[in-house]
Amino acid sequence: MKLSLVVPCYNEEENVELFFNEVVKSFKKVKFKYEIIFINDGSKDKTIDKLKELSKTSKENIKVINFSRNFGKEAGMYAGLKEATGDYVSIIDADLQQKPSLVLEMLDILEKNLEYDSVAAYQEKRNDPFFKRIFSNLFYKLINKISDVEFVPGASDFRLLKRNMVNAILEMSEYYRFSKGIFSFVGFNTYYLPYVADKRARGESKWSFWGLFKYAIEGIVAFTTTPLRIATFLGIIISGISFIYLIILVTQTLLLGIDVPGYASTLSAVLLLGGIQLFALGIIGEYLGRTYVETKRRPIYIAKEVIDNKKKTK
Ligand code: UDP
Ligand code: MG
Repeated sequence: MKLSLVVPCYNEEENVELFFNEVVKSFKKVKFKYEIIFINDGSKDKTIDKLKELSKTSKENIKVINFSRNFGKEAGMYAGLKEATGDYVSIIDADLQQKPSLVLEMLDILEKNLEYDSVAAYQEKRNDPFFKRIFSNLFYKLINKISDVEFVPGASDFRLLKRNMVNAILEMSEYYRFSKGIFSFVGFNTYYLPYVADKRARGESKWSFWGLFKYAIEGIVAFTTTPLRIATFLGIIISGISFIYLIILVTQTLLLGIDVPGYASTLSAVLLLGGIQLFALGIIGEYLGRTYVETKRRPIYIAKEVIDNKKKTK
């Protein structure tokens, strides 16, 4: 049996060694083989030097995938899953918010309950700021209503997957990746394990509010086409209302003569309809733009080099 740890890293120079030491400590007594796959996602600091150093000095099997630029965590995870050779693969952050020892607990669950194909860690209680919490609740309510794929609130990318599920995820080679959706889309049985995320060891989170907002839109566009119907529904409703209003106006004109003032109502109608039309166009644009990029079949990531210290250990 072999286990692979997939660790996306972006500007984690202060964390990678701490993380590695923590893994070695937690995995000291295990009987199986394991490999650690670090993805350097175009870090602007010295992460890559630290990783190369680790891979040179360490007795453990370390692979380093060095991206040519920052492609994002989603691309990092994909690259890691692709390089992973284990029967079990775990995705884990480099900042020690997620304890490597929990991977062993996950493994235990999978080995004891054969009906499960993966374990996903989820945060029961989150210490997010007020607005972030409200926004995230809203997002989950909305996306679960309009999408066929189930999104579990608080579920993280911190997971342990069996090989068959990893292969299924690799089959999904779309450019716009939204892993929360991909994990559900592929199906299989997932065990949800509550965990408490620790504080970041060093450095700061790369997520801004705007970043999360864009990520939410990404998820909606990637996993449901319901927004495209908004234009249809709005169109039907507005046409209906307009038709009734038209009958009222014609009757009024016929009975009472021509009523000249109407500047405010005309302008409101023009502005409102203009707004709705732009909104609908925008939605179509979101989908069309992604279709355009997907048809180019661009690579999800570009690796400058892949370093593997395996030969040293075996
Ligand atoms: N990460 C990455 N590429 C990015 C942003 C983040 O590989 O463009 C990695 C980062 O190094 C970390 C993990 O993804 O290991 C989670 O990032 P972060 O801690 O910023 O997110 P949070 O824990 O706040 O959700
Ligand atoms: Mg983090």
